[in-house]
Amino acid sequence: MDIKYFEQYGITAGITQVPDRSDVRRAAMAKELEEQDGFLIRPCLTHSTNVYPITWQFLDDKPSYIEIEDCDGMVTDVRNVALTSTHGDCIPLYAYDPVKKVIGLAHAGWRGTVDGIAAVLAFTMLKLFDCDPADIHTVVGPGIGRCCFEVSEDVAREFIEKLPWCEDYIDECVVPGKYMIDLKGINAEFFRMFGIVNTEISPVCTYEDENCWSYRRDGTDKRMLAYIKL
Ligand SMILES: [Zn+2]
Repeated sequence: MDIKYFEQYGITAGITQVPDRSDVRRAAMAKELEEQDGFLIRPCLTHSTNVYPITWQFLDDKPSYIEIEDCDGMVTDVRNVALTSTHGDCIPLYAYDPVKKVIGLAHAGWRGTVDGIAAVLAFTMLKLFDCDPADIHTVVGPGIGRCCFEVSEDVAREFIEKLPWCEDYIDECVVPGKYMIDLKGINAEFFRMFGIVNTEISPVCTYEDENCWSYRRDGTDKRMLAYIKL
């Protein structure tokens, strides 16, 4: 059973859970969309902050299944275009503007979080799609929680150096040189900076929840599929 978001708006958004596998679900979704003359976008994730606008011009002459190199986020206002990404602790960021009918999805691991992919996602919606932040609803989806995301000192230092405001989201562990980081909280804070106040933060920690694939817990190559479609 998937966890669903934005259902009250009649759009399709959610994330798969164990035992579903992202590759199987994505193939099924792509087949269905091809039959409906729709599109499925598969970003080749690189922990970048690259967010691509998926416009009619971009889609013109493209096949139904589109892979985008070096991409961790997408925004579109075109109907029947499924934005997808795969997750096994990294956090999916969903955005929906019900007024402008614009959707966004991004993949935020610690690298994407510290480099500000949430900010790029928000800015792309505001700048290129003319969204009003007051209209945008966002979800910081299931991912590794503050409870379980332990990092070394160099990672914690990078957060403090790049994002001096994020101290509240970092806890020092009893074990020297180890820190816990709240990636979900930092991503939600980025949305707030852009005036997006309607943000739901998923309580699901993928490391602890056995309904989730977790790379850190199991070293698995299986992933959950996050998706959103108008
Ligand atoms: Zn946890």
